[in-house]
Amino acid sequence: MSEECTHNCETCSSNCGGEQKADPASFLEKPNENSHIKKVIGVVSGKGGVGKSLVTSLLAVSMQRKGFKTAILDADITGPSIPKAFGIKEKAQGTENALLPVKSKTGIEIMSLNLLLENETEPVVWRGPVIGGVVKQFWTDVIWEDVDYMFVDMPPGTGDVPLTVFQSIPVDGIVVVTSPQELVTMIVEKAVNMAKMMHIPVLGLVENMSYFVCPDCGKKHAIYGESHLDAVAASFNITTTAKIPIDSKITAACDQGMIELTNGTWLDDFSDAIEQKLK
Ligand code: ADP
Repeated sequence: MSEECTHNCETCSSNCGGEQKADPASFLEKPNENSHIKKVIGVVSGKGGVGKSLVTSLLAVSMQRKGFKTAILDADITGPSIPKAFGIKEKAQGTENALLPVKSKTGIEIMSLNLLLENETEPVVWRGPVIGGVVKQFWTDVIWEDVDYMFVDMPPGTGDVPLTVFQSIPVDGIVVVTSPQELVTMIVEKAVNMAKMMHIPVLGLVENMSYFVCPDCGKKHAIYGESHLDAVAASFNITTTAKIPIDSKITAACDQGMIELTNGTWLDDFSDAIEQKLK
């Protein structure tokens, strides 16, 4: 298949025999034969910096606290922030033909490019197909030991890398992360449409940096303007939503590698709902 392949056989004259691949399911890669993964949830956002990695981490922590075994596949190859949030400094180890995820303090299995790089401040200046290939290998070449819920921190946006990830990893549902200053309706619509193309359900919508609670008077302030989350969710028939405040405890927890110790309950109901939806 050519590198320029858009996977749209209707507009292509090439006789590559790829027609039978028009079904997204046919691109799916098999996980490592020694992996045990029950459910996979993709966490997506319209752009970087809205808190996608934070939500991925908090969802994994929330599910783990409920007694499930969780894992994070960090597919945000050019901005991998998961190991830092969990304070993981050690490198991932491998066997002759497989890689092993690193376990967090509470036992969450994590694989990220930063766990493989000699120097984690090295920029990753790779083109899309190479990045997509690495994500695929995180699925096929890593032995995910025993996972009830795997959360995939997707690359931001709806470009070729997220598309490759969706086509190669069998995602059971997606969670969309937005922030109030974004053009939420458009971002959600794009994510919903991408999910539809891939035949994947949207499990819920999380608004990060939704409000700020004044530590002195306890009043809630909508720093970035009033939230339109519920109205937008309703217009796309998304019934599960959550809001996370701007909180310096969150920033500190991410910076100090202590995300597992945050005591926020913002995603508890949300993760209950996900559990029910994926039963
Ligand atoms: P993304 O994955 O969308 O690029 P991150 O989850 O890595 O974004 O968030 C970037 C940084 O912003 C985090 O490391 C954290 O320090 C900060 N941050 C995110 N959400 C919040 C929040 N609700 N309150 C305080 N700081 C936050």
